[in-house]
Amino acid sequence: MVIRSDGAESPVLEDKESPILPDKPSRVKYGELVILGYNGFLPPGDRGRKRSKYVLWKRPDPNGVKRSKHYVVKTPHNSQAILDSQQHSISYTLSRNQAIIVEYMPDEDTDMFQIGRSSENPIDFVVVDTVAGEKNGDSGKVVQSTISRFACRILAERANPSVARIYAAGFDSSRNIFLGEKATKWQEGRDIDGLTTNGILLMHPQGSFCGGDSEPGVWREVSVCGGIYSLRESRSAQKKGRAVEEVTNVLQDGTLIDLCGATLLWRSAEGLEKSPTKDYLENLVDKLNAGRPVCPVGLNTLVIPRKSSYTGPDGGADKQQPYVYLNCGHVQGSHDWGHEKNSHTRTCPLCTKVGPVQKLCMGIEPAFYVDAGPPIFFAFNPCGHMATEKTVKYWASVMIPHGTNAFESFCPFCATPLEGFPGYVRLIFQDNVD
Ligand SMILES: [Zn+2]
Ligand SMILES: [Zn+2]
Repeated sequence: MVIRSDGAESPVLEDKESPILPDKPSRVKYGELVILGYNGFLPPGDRGRKRSKYVLWKRPDPNGVKRSKHYVVKTPHNSQAILDSQQHSISYTLSRNQAIIVEYMPDEDTDMFQIGRSSENPIDFVVVDTVAGEKNGDSGKVVQSTISRFACRILAERANPSVARIYAAGFDSSRNIFLGEKATKWQEGRDIDGLTTNGILLMHPQGSFCGGDSEPGVWREVSVCGGIYSLRESRSAQKKGRAVEEVTNVLQDGTLIDLCGATLLWRSAEGLEKSPTKDYLENLVDKLNAGRPVCPVGLNTLVIPRKSSYTGPDGGADKQQPYVYLNCGHVQGSHDWGHEKNSHTRTCPLCTKVGPVQKLCMGIEPAFYVDAGPPIFFAFNPCGHMATEKTVKYWASVMIPHGTNAFESFCPFCATPLEGFPGYVRLIFQDNVD
C-alpha cells in the first residue's frame, strides 16, 4: 500500500470503492459527493479520482489543517511559508507589495478532502464541467472550463463524523492557496477572508432531504474561511454579498454545492442509510417490467431499460424500448402513428394530445432519490428519465446555477434543463391484460 505522507491515497488505491471489494464494516463513512448529471456512472467508466461520485471515508491518519499564525509580507512568492512545500498557507495579496500570509498547521481532529478540476495529487475528487444530456462514451468537450483547478475543500471531524465543513479554494501541490490582487477579500479585526473568482455556492435544503418532504433552500456563497454570504450581484462580481450569520458551512444531507460548471450533491452517511439502494431501484424496474406493459398500437411488450446507454443488439431502435408522450404521460413503443412529416411532435393515439415523444429510462442513481416509493413513476420533460413522484417533484422545484448568472431546474440524472410547466409528467402504462 502506498500512502503518501500527507495521508492522501494514490489513485490506484481508490479502486477500493469498486463493488468487487467489499468495504470493511469498521470503516467510518462521512458521506458521499455525487455529481449531478451522471446517472450513476461516467461514460468512460469510474476510474481513480475521476468518477461520478466520491465517498469520503475516515482516513487512517488525520490530514486536516487549522489556522495558526498570520503576518504581512512584501513579496509573498518569496516568503518562507510559500517556499516550504510542507507548510500549508493561504496568501491574500492586498497590493503589489503587500500580502497577508496565514499559516496552517496539522489538525489531528479533522480529515481534509479536496475537490477541483486539477488532476494533481492534492485533489481527491476530480470534477470537470458537466455537459447536459445523454452521455455516450465521448463526454462532450468543454471549450473553456469555469471550474477552478483547486475549487474547494471539506474538513470532516474525526470524532464526530456527521460534521463536515466546506470551504472555498483548495491547497495546490505546494500546499498553498493564492488569492491574487483581483480576488475579493476583506479584513475584519485580525481576520482576513476572501472569495474565489467564480465562487463556491451552497444550498441547504429545508427539512430532511430523505423522506420526500423537504423544500429547496436559498443559494449562498461560502468563503475561503468558511463564512456564509448572500450571492454576489453576478457570479464573479468584486463586491461580496452580506454575511449570513444564521447559516453555517456544515454540510447537511442534501446540500448542493455548485462549482460553476458542475453541481455536487452531498449525502450524509446517515441520510444514505435511509435512501433506497440501487438494488431496490432495479427491483422496482423489474417489477414494472414483470407487469408486461404493452404498446397500445403495436401490442408488443415493452421493457424499461436501467441505463440510457442501452440499445438493441443491432444498435438500432429497440422494439421493446418504451417512449413517453411528454404532454400526457402515455407510454408506448416505437411506431409511426400520429407522426407528421417534418415535425418533432406526434399525436398520442390514446388521447389525441399533440406533443414531443421521448425514450423512457430509469433514473438509477439512488443518491438523487428523496424517497423509496410508492412505485408510481413520473418522468422529467424533456429527457424521459423516470423516478418516484416525490423525487421528480423535488428536483423540478430546485433552481440550480446554470452558466454564470442564470438559475434553472434540471434533471439530476442527465443535467438536461426541464422544459414546459411543470417540467415533468406522470407515466401511464398500459398493462398487459391476459
Ligand atoms: Zn396520451
Ligand atoms: Zn434526465
